Amino acid sequence: MILLSTRHRKYKDLFPLKKFLKCPHCDRNLAGSYSKGRHKRYAYYHCVTKGCSYKPIRQDYAEYLFTEYLKSFEMEKDFINYLFDSAKEFLNSKQQDSKNISAYIKKEISLLESKKAKIEELVIDGTFSKDTYLKKANEIDAEIISKKIQLSDYENQIIDVDTLVKYGKNIFLNLSNFWVKLDTPRKISFQKMLFPDGIYLENNEFRTAQISSILKLIGDKNYAQSIMAAPGCEISNQFLKGVIAISETI
Ligand SMILES: [Zn+2]
Repeated sequence: MILLSTRHRKYKDLFPLKKFLKCPHCDRNLAGSYSKGRHKRYAYYHCVTKGCSYKPIRQDYAEYLFTEYLKSFEMEKDFINYLFDSAKEFLNSKQQDSKNISAYIKKEISLLESKKAKIEELVIDGTFSKDTYLKKANEIDAEIISKKIQLSDYENQIIDVDTLVKYGKNIFLNLSNFWVKLDTPRKISFQKMLFPDGIYLENNEFRTAQISSILKLIGDKNYAQSIMAAPGCEISNQFLKGVIAISETI
């Protein structure tokens, strides 16, 4: 890990939206800088292209606008509840498959272990030569290892659905506040997850190149309702994947 000097760190911490906001004129990422006023320094975001006509915007104002923009994606509690509850149902049923398979693999592993114990007895009572024993034990060990790898894959898929759903609801009811409360590195990861290609800011309005599927879903009630109602509910899966990604990154 590279340790930043205090000055550098302080500077870096002050501009969460730099390299995220984009200039609509030349498509470059905006930078964050200070301009010295007579008595005070002003922090602002600005375009780095020479001669670009993009007007710098004060940092506090840009960030205020961004929090307002995030608010526009917040939805009523009822709808968020509906969305998450459908997703929860889907995930629980999917989890059940993983749980069943895990239980089955565990059983297979314990059978292999008792098989190994049995051949140990056979070498003790002289039925097997040492060579035969080693060969057989090695085969069984290899099988046990591969089953254990399979098992951990399935177990990794089992997550605490209730906690996840609670966490997700809280984020999507309060997107804006959630962002405000994060420190700068987390702000950066979170905003990037919501708007993977950054966001244009012009005339105090935002325009996005692309929003994440999760925002698309919560930003359009009709779209979400039609999709959640569809059988199979693949989108629930995607939706929760988004929440999991947030919970792992933030
Ligand atoms: Zn520009």
